[in-house]
Amino acid sequence: MTVSDQTRRVVNPTIGVPTNTQPESMYLPGTKCPLKSQVKLAALTSFRVGGPAQWYVSPKNLEELKQSFAWATEQQLPITLLGAGSNLLVSDRGLPGLVIGTKGLRYTHFDLETGQVRVAAGQSIARLAWKAAELGWEGLEWAVGIPGTVGGAVVMNAGAHGSCAADILVDAQVLSPDGSVELLSLKDLGYRYRTSVLQGGDRLVTEATFQLKPGADPAKVTATTAEQLEQRRLTQPYHLPSCGSVFRNPEGEYGAGWLIEQMGLKGYQIGCAQVAERHANFILNCGGAKAMDIYRLILYVQEQVEKHWSIKLEPEVKILGQFAD
Ligand SMILES: Cc1cc2nc3c(=O)[nH]c(=O)nc-3n(C[C@H](O)[C@H](O)[C@H](O)COP(=O)(O)OP(=O)(O)OC[C@H]3O[C@@H](n4cnc5c(N)ncnc54)[C@H](O)[C@@H]3O)c2cc1C
Repeated sequence: MTVSDQTRRVVNPTIGVPTNTQPESMYLPGTKCPLKSQVKLAALTSFRVGGPAQWYVSPKNLEELKQSFAWATEQQLPITLLGAGSNLLVSDRGLPGLVIGTKGLRYTHFDLETGQVRVAAGQSIARLAWKAAELGWEGLEWAVGIPGTVGGAVVMNAGAHGSCAADILVDAQVLSPDGSVELLSLKDLGYRYRTSVLQGGDRLVTEATFQLKPGADPAKVTATTAEQLEQRRLTQPYHLPSCGSVFRNPEGEYGAGWLIEQMGLKGYQIGCAQVAERHANFILNCGGAKAMDIYRLILYVQEQVEKHWSIKLEPEVKILGQFAD
């Protein structure tokens, strides 16, 4: 049986949901890249919640990425792009179609002449920050507490301590579902607070180049990096699964966390999802939370803040899949 035959057997093309319930494993056509069905997304997201991906693939290079897009297009399946899953809330019902995980994309190249680092999308941005620090390259210290990939940081314009990806990005290589590859400049990415033109789209960041400053004392850069991590650990709850800040900070004087805290919502719980005591803009999975618990808590917090402050908090976390009762 060919791969395509197997696929036709398990996919209901009219509604795009799996008719199989047993996990299956095969290979992406023309590659040695495993293509798996019914993969638990709870294990691939930092909230540790969410049902299965209908299909999941983790390509290791550009060719496998192109094949992943081609296969999903041929099968008429929707595509979801997944980095480290540290800014995602996935429905308990899982996701139809193909989830393309980027964590298999790995390489880093520091160019001493230009002071630029070219790095694959699947690399951990925090690990890159440590590596840069060890070499005495400044510019990434702020990223040390962000548990996402380089690709996720580029798309989200991740940031902390007053700096963000847009401050150091030179360009990003992106792949479109039709297999075309483009190099986008900083200007092309249309960066604003925690967003870029790539958000919500179907183009996949395959690699990024950042401008750093080589030549500093490695001990000094490492110490600054460690200090930034320590500061975050003191002010943010890292001991339980979360997605970091749930809401974007609204325009104006007050941050989302402050507004939520003033409502007395710290510690408020729905099911096993709780507004963190240490930082009101974090929601924690206290153990065994369902995605639905977290979703309901997000709606509740939003409603309470809007009632009192007339401010509609906008989620920073990407909510994927069906949540309707
Ligand atoms: C404890 C904790 C602390 C955090 N602190 C911070 C913080 O200080 N600052 C901050 O900005 N964020 C923070 N976050 C949120 C999160 O880490 C960032 O948003 C991060 O950049 C997301 O990267 P990711 O690889 O996990 O992306 P994912 O969560 O996997 O995906 C996020 C979005 O990007 C898309 N995407 C991911 N990779 C690609 C790619 N290669 N190409 C195209 N689209 C892609 C996804 O489809 C999705 O829409 C925190 C999260 C946690 C759990």
